[in-house]
Amino acid sequence: MQSLRFTALENLAGVDLKIKPEQLNGKITEVFGSNVFTGKVLRENLSDEAYKSLMNSIKSGSKIERKMADQIAAGLKQWAMKKGVTHFTHWFQPLTGTTAEKHDSFFTIKSDGSAIETFDGDALVQQEPDASSFPSGGLRATFEARGYTAWDPSSPAFIIEQGYGKTLCIPTIFVSYTGESLDYKAPLLKALSSLDKAAVDVCNYFDKNVTKVTATLGWEQEYFLVDENMANARPDLIMCGRTVVGHAPSKGQQLEDHYFGSIPERAYAFMRDFEEESYKLGIPLRTRHNEVAPSQFECAPIFEEVNIAVDHNSLLMDVMTKVAKRHKLKVLLHEKPFAGINGSGKHNNWSMATDTGVNLLAPGKTPKTNLMFLTFFVNTIKAVHDYADLLRAAIASPSNDFRLGANEAPPAIISVFVGKYLSEVLQEVKTRVSNKFDEQDEAILKLDLHRHIPELLLDNTDRNRTSPFAFTGNKFEFRAVGSSANCASAMTILNTIMAQTLSNFKKDVDSLIEKGEKKEIAIMQTLRKYIVDSEKVLFEGDGYSEEWEAEAAKRGLPNVKTTPHALDAMVTPKATKLFADTGVYNEKELHARHEILLEDYVKKVQIEARVIGDLATNTILPAAISYQNDLIANIRGLKEIGLGEGAVKAQKQIAEKIAEHINVISENVQAMIEARKVVNKLTDSRQKAIEYCEKIKPYFDVIRYHSDKLEFLVDDKKWALPKYRELLFLR
Ligand code: ADP
Ligand code: MG
Repeated sequence: MQSLRFTALENLAGVDLKIKPEQLNGKITEVFGSNVFTGKVLRENLSDEAYKSLMNSIKSGSKIERKMADQIAAGLKQWAMKKGVTHFTHWFQPLTGTTAEKHDSFFTIKSDGSAIETFDGDALVQQEPDASSFPSGGLRATFEARGYTAWDPSSPAFIIEQGYGKTLCIPTIFVSYTGESLDYKAPLLKALSSLDKAAVDVCNYFDKNVTKVTATLGWEQEYFLVDENMANARPDLIMCGRTVVGHAPSKGQQLEDHYFGSIPERAYAFMRDFEEESYKLGIPLRTRHNEVAPSQFECAPIFEEVNIAVDHNSLLMDVMTKVAKRHKLKVLLHEKPFAGINGSGKHNNWSMATDTGVNLLAPGKTPKTNLMFLTFFVNTIKAVHDYADLLRAAIASPSNDFRLGANEAPPAIISVFVGKYLSEVLQEVKTRVSNKFDEQDEAILKLDLHRHIPELLLDNTDRNRTSPFAFTGNKFEFRAVGSSANCASAMTILNTIMAQTLSNFKKDVDSLIEKGEKKEIAIMQTLRKYIVDSEKVLFEGDGYSEEWEAEAAKRGLPNVKTTPHALDAMVTPKATKLFADTGVYNEKELHARHEILLEDYVKKVQIEARVIGDLATNTILPAAISYQNDLIANIRGLKEIGLGEGAVKAQKQIAEKIAEHINVISENVQAMIEARKVVNKLTDSRQKAIEYCEKIKPYFDVIRYHSDKLEFLVDDKKWALPKYRELLFLR
């Protein structure tokens, strides 16, 4: 039988690369949000009472009464059924990393046997999915077997279309029966509300009219596209999302021609199609382009409130994956699908906005608003400095470990880039503000930030692409987030540490005011102190360089390279206090989450180890042995016809090299299996994760090294796995 690789290569010629007219719907504004229960449709389908109650809940988080929930459910059903929807589902984001749905029909049978379609407040507000298969870190075992999903009114309901099916999706949080969070969303909502409160308090120093602060997020999603048949011939891509073996292609990304090139036709057709689906769901996609690596792309939306942006990113990853199938493509969201080629990230652009329309990380136009900007700016730096270990934990995953700290990706050291001008401003505050009130303090209030910063915004050269956390003019960009991550992890931590820092800031300023200091002076002096306390986290140089690693070590900045160790930060006394103070996690939840992440780590590395063992044994070694046989036959034949050693020299050398690689691979696969048996016996999750990382993973590199040598030596026709050049360069 011909290998899947060659069938895939043959089929490639017949792939239709063009955009189909039915994929194009003309104006984006005509389809945008058409499958979302928001805006005009709310008014049309809800009574005044129900509408007001929903709006109120969205704005202030107030509870919706059961009676109102019934009315809202009726409105939702009316809208959805007009659009041909037959089923509904509570849509949630469990800690498995994908989204979860369990569809129920509106259809039901009444006691008299007649059929009707119903959807009431109960069905809207709460459901009990069969939760036993989602990770709980022991929470459900210790408490109750059940978990339930609860409606999150702040994220609008939407309709998913798949083939002929249409399903109404209700965004929900997922909690255990005793109320502990089991998903990404519940803690995120708590973090956002904690930030709201702390930030409003600080804003009120400057503007009494501010009553709400909303964190904003604009993510940039990077991904690779691979021909589906080709991917199907790579068990590693299917099972692990990345290639565990593969010889580097003769041409990699050194020419950087992909970045500047036009989008390939087939990728373009796919983008146009998934963008259309995304627009219907209200995902405001704005940009698309090629990325640095071959077959790597990026899309980004207009930023939104964090809560909505997180849902939209989860939805997008789902939509992309489904739409890709229509184009016989496979989307790779893994952080490092190909060794030696750039990995993928998901930059999280983050800021905070007031209900008076002010972006708190945009420099203002007057000294007073400048001081407000400076306050939020410095507090962010302080938060990152104080809780760098938690931010590192927030982005830790087995897949992101392959990217962070690798030669062309952000390092595992968390530092902040602010640019030359703002560095100078911070220096100025530090040196000119004295501990005692004097004239100079007044002078500093006249800081003329607004004259300089707009220019900075336009100046793209003052940007540092190697920083994991960079100020980019009117927002911070958290770049170390992995492409496959749920943004909620990073956003929960970032907003929590910001909330805590701001609330400490308020205490510090208030205590100076109580001692008789003028408000502005108290603020400046506290900012000065914060700058001094946290400036070691500031770094303007090349974050990818070895010098920085040495320098960071000297400064005492943490540099934790692997997930099992990075996760320790979640359960320190400091973290426990932080999460308790902000109400984001109680201690039980924290430990459960830590446990879940460790278990996830172990499972993923375990799967990779099995895939590598299987591939080596069933695919790679047989190809090598078969080619060795050809060589032996050839050597024998040449000798038979009377040719001497000279004629068979090269063949013998190749056969010998192949034999060496076969031996090393075979020995290491065996040793890895034995090592796994030992590690699997461990009962402590942390220890197990550490040993998987330190005792099992090193085998991957050895096996890969020798496999890639074999790929280079063995007859191309006998190699069953599509090669890098085929995965990356064929269109
Ligand atoms: P760049 O391409 O230089 O990274 P862009 O201007 O394209 O910068 O923005 C990248 C992302 O940042 C976009 O998703 C954008 O919507 C988002 N963004 C812009 N302003 C904000 C803000 N105030 N809060 C959050 N995200 C923002
Ligand atoms: Mg960017």
